[in-house]
Amino acid sequence: MAAAKPKRTPEEIKARRKLERAIRRKLPDALHCSFCGKSQVEVEKLIAGPFVFICNECVAMCNDVIAARPIPDNGYTKPLERPTEQLLSLMGSVNYAADASRDFLQQVVDTLRSREVSWADIGQTLGVSRQSAWERFS
Ligand SMILES: [Zn+2]
Repeated sequence: MAAAKPKRTPEEIKARRKLERAIRRKLPDALHCSFCGKSQVEVEKLIAGPFVFICNECVAMCNDVIAARPIPDNGYTKPLERPTEQLLSLMGSVNYAADASRDFLQQVVDTLRSREVSWADIGQTLGVSRQSAWERFS
């Protein structure tokens, strides 16, 4: 019951390849808003950030929050209440975000270590022991 691959314009194919080169990771077939869980085919625009995506509808909601305006009821469906096929498709985006975030965390730790930050300080920041930080990231 795998979800059908969305049809892509040449511009989307080019943008995906560019993003995949930048993040050195293959994107899932379907991309989803990290805030509401809607797929790229359900929204007008999906904006890529580092390991996350946000749709035009969530940007509009954020603008309402920032402006202290009442938030309209846009028929939001909690991601886990979506039909099975949509949830299967969403799983690819969630897996991508989790893997990419884990890789980025490793890069942050590697950078801190190259700056001679101690395992004790890294562990303390992460709420784990020096030994646990070393075992997880070295
Ligand atoms: Zn959204």
